[in-house]
Amino acid sequence: MDKLSVLNEFFGHRAFRKGQEELIDHILSGSDVLGIMPTGAGKSLCYQVPALLLSGTTIVISPLISLMKDQVSALLSSGVSAACINSSLTPEEYSDTMYRACRGEFRLIYVAPERLGTQEMNRLVSSVRIPMVTIDEAHCVSQWGQDFRPSYLHIAEFIESLPQKPVISAFTATATDTVKQDIIRLLGLREPFSLITGFDRPNLYFSVMNPDNKYAALRRLIGGFGDKCGIVYCLSRKSVEEVCEKLCADGFSATRYHAGLPDTERIANQEDFIYDRRRIMVATNAFGMGIDKSDVSYVIHYNMPKNIESYYQEAGRAGRDGSPAQCILLYSGKDVKTNEFMIEKSREENTDLSEEEKDIMLERDRQRLKEMTFYATTSGCLRESMLRYFGEKAPSYCGNCSSCVNGFEEVDITVDAQKIVSCVFRIKQKGRYYGKSMVIDVLHGSGNERVRSLGFDKLSTYGLMSDTPVQRIRAELDHLIMQGFLSFSGGEYPVVELTAQSARIVKDKITVRMNLPKEKPPQGRKRAEDSFYAKDELFEKLRKLRAKLAAEEKVPAYIVFSDAALRDMCRVRPTRMAVFLTVSGVGKKKAEKYGEEFCRLISEHISTHPDDDKPRG
Ligand code: ADP
Ligand code: MG
Repeated sequence: MDKLSVLNEFFGHRAFRKGQEELIDHILSGSDVLGIMPTGAGKSLCYQVPALLLSGTTIVISPLISLMKDQVSALLSSGVSAACINSSLTPEEYSDTMYRACRGEFRLIYVAPERLGTQEMNRLVSSVRIPMVTIDEAHCVSQWGQDFRPSYLHIAEFIESLPQKPVISAFTATATDTVKQDIIRLLGLREPFSLITGFDRPNLYFSVMNPDNKYAALRRLIGGFGDKCGIVYCLSRKSVEEVCEKLCADGFSATRYHAGLPDTERIANQEDFIYDRRRIMVATNAFGMGIDKSDVSYVIHYNMPKNIESYYQEAGRAGRDGSPAQCILLYSGKDVKTNEFMIEKSREENTDLSEEEKDIMLERDRQRLKEMTFYATTSGCLRESMLRYFGEKAPSYCGNCSSCVNGFEEVDITVDAQKIVSCVFRIKQKGRYYGKSMVIDVLHGSGNERVRSLGFDKLSTYGLMSDTPVQRIRAELDHLIMQGFLSFSGGEYPVVELTAQSARIVKDKITVRMNLPKEKPPQGRKRAEDSFYAKDELFEKLRKLRAKLAAEEKVPAYIVFSDAALRDMCRVRPTRMAVFLTVSGVGKKKAEKYGEEFCRLISEHISTHPDDDKPRG
């Protein structure tokens, strides 16, 4: 068998995605690999396909039990023999799995890193050939990765102890260079083939909103999503509780997840979401790693997270199967303060770092927060801003984010820039620098008590921009900071300061331009949303059938078929097995198992809807 037939027969896909084939080829030729690809890019197949082609049992080291369980059920349903070894097994299950493992019955075994040194593991690796060791979520090895796990440090030792040196393949979605170097060094990869695919996820629609009433906005958004499922992320446990309670009171099918809940409840809530018994998960960032639910249609951030890495990781849990999905950030200025507070607090909690290291981390965290805030307030293309942050070049118009859809235009802000910079200068003349809000208040001519008590209402720049909306002044101020014409830094109370570049605005009077949203959204937007919400009758029927089969087998619906596969069925409309097999996501095993029922349903639908597009199968 070759790699394409494996892809086809077991996983039902016609072609490899970007990067997958190269990584697989290198593994098969015996080289260590490091694959850095965004969430949902399809990293699993990069080691699962070779595991089916190499002789012996591939060991996959994976940090979370839920993640392993999910992967193993997906593999089993595709006809691949696999098992996991972790603390969730009963003693009987454990010894049975070990017995079968030692007989070489599995193509892949998923193991938690904590299990690596055990006697049973040693027996296993001496009784079967281990052609490859795969480390999933490999950033867990690095202190600088977001989910550092000390037990990951023992992996190299374990690999050393194997009778035969296996191929090592490591995968992560974290692209920073420090993390990459740590992975190579700490896992002992030998001249690995590294591949970083682009971070763009074209199927995700990004949007930032700045609503006056967040909950009202959330309710409206979720209402519009109908019975699609989604995740709502909040910054604190308290707001998880509040938001979840309100949603339930408003009749939505919501559940919650945060580290303060008892283990049993947390796990039960997670399963309710995965098995579609609850449609909405309200959670802190504790939720999500290891959730491979592929049919999440939206991720709404009720608060702005502390950095773009976290945001992209969390938002990226939407649309994993490639279907269109939305990532919406509900931003408010208060989120910045809350994050600053949490960053300070975590500095004190990092007790195993030296003072100097703590300061470096603190500075880095602050810088990251600033970049996140920029994303939340930019009027330029959101996708561009994000990709640029990850070091990728991107066009300044993507057509699939709120900035691009609403449209923006390049505006000459030279005069406003002069007003803003002079205002900062005047404020400083009175004694010292102040924060952004003060600068904006003075320019806008706020009657605010503090402005008056400091005598700022006497400044020549007071009220100079009273006709300009506060939002716009803020956007322009942020733009000047990002361009280096002003700076915004300092400890607990960051202040807006002049820089060496400021003179270019007031003395040299250079032209300054920036992208600002167009006043009126164009017509196109409505239609894009309509089609996103549009329900397809056949799709709904297929979904019901899928739910029924999933319930019978006690697996999550997306293990039976992904939304993307159902959508492809709507397109192809197969009524015969041979055609059913051409649907993306339908492999041999699944066709045998489900083909007949789906084909029957589709024939029925076609016979009662003769006016629909001509069927192809
Ligand atoms: P990652 O681990 O990179 O976040 P996964 O391995 O979980 O991503 O894959 C995400 C989704 O992409 C899965 O639903 C999977 O079936 C789908 N997928 C992966 N490779 C392909 C492919 N070559 N063609 C079509 N779909 C694919
Ligand atoms: Mg993965």
